[in-house]
Formats: sequence, structure tokens, C-alpha cells
Amino acid sequence: MPPFPHRAGCSRNDSLIETDQTAMIEDEAWMRRALALAAEAAADGEVPVGAVLVRDGAVLGEGRNGPIGHCDPTAHAEVLALRQAAGRAGNYRLVGSTLYVTVEPCTMCAGALVHARVARLVFGAAEPRAGAVVSSARVLDNPQLNHRVTVCGGVLAEDCAALLREFFLQRRTARGSSRPTDNE
Ligand SMILES: [Zn+2]
Repeated sequence: MPPFPHRAGCSRNDSLIETDQTAMIEDEAWMRRALALAAEAAADGEVPVGAVLVRDGAVLGEGRNGPIGHCDPTAHAEVLALRQAAGRAGNYRLVGSTLYVTVEPCTMCAGALVHARVARLVFGAAEPRAGAVVSSARVLDNPQLNHRVTVCGGVLAEDCAALLREFFLQRRTARGSSRPTDNE
């Protein structure tokens, strides 16, 4: 397993919640919703990533990865969820919210979480190449930032990663195995 804050090390504010079954069940339930969105993205031929923005126990916004369909390089699941949530809230700052996303966010999305003042990030699978939270970069750890996002990784990680593996396997099969892999 990659060295990132896994389920057991997750914290909500300053109190460890590894023994808090209710919080764990709640996190997994939201992650399953994000997984369903990721599956929808895959069905559209987009890299399967799904995101749900939750505040006060309710969905404020959700998104599924869609840069191809939207003709928009910024149309990542997290950004779309943040946009929908901010529109509904009538506020570009989403204080007190939690973003659930199936895959570790990239640099852009990690930055967007800070701009939106999201309180907590819960992600599923780590992304060794583009992940900018605990993998290739640690954007949220920048001491210059005046906003802290609590991070919890590894929630339903295997399900989230399996969806990605299956997607790329099918795409490689469809294109023929002689072509180089293209995960972007
Ligand atoms: Zn992103």
C-alpha cells in the first residue's frame, strides 16, 4: 500500500475517528455514490472519477470526470462538484463541507479545494503519477496556505482502483495491445 493517510489514520478535525464506526460507514456511503458517478463517466468513455460534495449531511454538488464530453480540460469530477455546490449555495466558499472523490486529486483540483475552503477531503485510490495530495506532490501541505484541508485517503480504495484498472484494460483491448498505454 502507498504511504498515505489510510482509513485507520484518518482524522476529523483533531479527534481520531478510527473507532468511530458511524463516521466510517458514512464516509463509505458517500464514496459509493462517488463510485456510481465514476461508473457513469466510464460508460461515457471518460476516465472513471466521481466526486460528491457534502455539507450538513446532504449532497450540495456532484460531478463525474468529463473533459472529453465537455471539451474542457478543467472538467474534472472535483471541479464540477465544486461548481455545482457553489452555485447552489450562492457562495464560492464552501466552508464546513467535505469532498468525496474516488481518486486522489490532481494539482488543479487540490488547489480548487483550497480556494473553495473545503474542510475535509476524502479520497479513494491514490494516484501515483498525477496525485497531488500524497503522491507526486503534496499541494495541501504547503505551509504558505492559510487554509488547511483535513485529508483522509484509502476509503474503498480497492473498488475505486478496480474501476480505473478495468477502464484502461478495456480501452487497451479495444485499441489493440500494440499501442502504448495512455492514462491521461
Ligand atoms: Zn483534477
